[in-house]
Amino acid sequence: MSTRTIAGQALLPEVEAFLSKDIHGAAIGGREVFASNGDTFDTHDPGTGETLATVANMQPDDVEQAVAAAQEAFDKADWARLPANERGVHLMRLADAVEQHRLVITQIESLDCGKIAAQAEEDVQNFIDTIRYFCNLAQGLSLDTAIPVAGHEASVVRHAWGPCGFIVPWNFPFLLCGWGIGPAMAAGNTCVVKPAEDTPLSTLYVAHLAKEIGIPDGVINVIPGVGEVTGAALSKNRNLRRMSFTGSPEVGRMVARECGQNLIPVKLELGGKGAAVVFDDVDIPDAADKLAQAITFHTGQVCCDATRWLVQKSIYDDFVNTAVERLKAVQIGHPLGQATQMGPVVSDTQHKRVLGYLEKGTAAGAETVLAGGAAKVEGCDGGHYVKPALLAGTLDNLAAREEIFGPVAYLAPFSDESEGIRLANDTDYGLANSVWSSDLARCKRVASLFEAGNGWINSHNVVVHGVPYAGVKKSGMGGGVVSLETLLDYYRSISVIRPL
Ligand code: NAD
Repeated sequence: MSTRTIAGQALLPEVEAFLSKDIHGAAIGGREVFASNGDTFDTHDPGTGETLATVANMQPDDVEQAVAAAQEAFDKADWARLPANERGVHLMRLADAVEQHRLVITQIESLDCGKIAAQAEEDVQNFIDTIRYFCNLAQGLSLDTAIPVAGHEASVVRHAWGPCGFIVPWNFPFLLCGWGIGPAMAAGNTCVVKPAEDTPLSTLYVAHLAKEIGIPDGVINVIPGVGEVTGAALSKNRNLRRMSFTGSPEVGRMVARECGQNLIPVKLELGGKGAAVVFDDVDIPDAADKLAQAITFHTGQVCCDATRWLVQKSIYDDFVNTAVERLKAVQIGHPLGQATQMGPVVSDTQHKRVLGYLEKGTAAGAETVLAGGAAKVEGCDGGHYVKPALLAGTLDNLAAREEIFGPVAYLAPFSDESEGIRLANDTDYGLANSVWSSDLARCKRVASLFEAGNGWINSHNVVVHGVPYAGVKKSGMGGGVVSLETLLDYYRSISVIRPL
């Protein structure tokens, strides 16, 4: 098969073969299954707007079938009853298989998501690390823990729950798939994953790899489809034992409502409107550089990004001028382009959303510091490109309060430490903020006073396996990922006690 070249990169033969399928079906019980009514949808390369693949749009009865397959694998495939080390062999094989196919998955993810190849490759590595991390963690966990109490013999015994549902957004499809299925599978659960309709391909690919390396059928089921149909059906399903939703607060509320009706525990990992609090003793070029990188990382489509830059008054002008220069120099291009530093946003909808916020923000009184707007990339006319933008003004502006999900930061000055903390916390969201200063004691003090799940020091977007990553307020509920707490969520516990 001849392979195409996109933005100077030849597609790998495996990628070309994968994309050439007529229709990508769901992975249910180890089989490829198409929608019961034959419905499909197309997924696009955000860098060119061209169709990449046609995918099955799974219907409510197909979703039932996927959950039933996950239940059957849980009951009959012995997945849950395997000792942790034997399950671990499967998980390590999965991590190894992804490692062997690293470049294939990187290209698929880069094309489907519009993520520059180097960042897509980091996501693939993160998936591998996540699977290995939870696999190792599960080996050392006692599932029958004695509790010393007077006059009784007592213990807590842990079991896997059963079939777990995962609804995933489009910004980190492969990485978030790993964050979901890694701990769930390590604990012995089975999974039904609903990827976002903009980016289903890497998740479908991993289901195909899982089949190839002998993960028992039905342990990983992937049901592509549009949110209102497939996602809604999964959130209503009564046979799931747990649900994990990552996405917008609006949809998160709907999913939580459905799970609440069925009393199914749900964890929500939602949006953010993070702040960077920059003090006047900071190294200005270094901080401006890092924050410019943070806001352009995956074209600003990152839940924990620093989208409000709060800068101490005495350095405000210097800092802003330096940041503007950095942002103007960012090389925009197709995600597979060697020189590209910032790719497109994921879709036409997202393109309109970003430009709409620039318009609405300025109409509501924000000052334009760096105009941003639509960008053109040669040879990629249908691509969804935007330039980085900076707005400034009071923090009651909707561009300072609502999640834009593009390379747009909102600037505001502050006078002292208490005002910096107050402004950072003056938001409905609570995912991640950062503090920037050469005074480490101040950094630690300020970071711990953020009303957020994560406080970062002289850096932004710092997520490390072993350190809980979660949101508070409108950024999440009952959640937390990549840590021991996450693994424990995937066991139900029973207290066993007898009077002596
Ligand atoms: P979204 O809420 O629109 O969609 C997320 C998922 O929900 C998709 O799979 C979608 O198909 C599905 N969905 C849509 N409507 C549904 C419905 N009615 N019922 C059930 N499922 C439905 O979010 P998005 O636009 O894909 O992603 C961006 C959002 O995700 C941002 O708010 C971002 O901050 C958030 N996010 C949060 C984290 C985190 O860890 N906290 C990580 C990544 C993204």
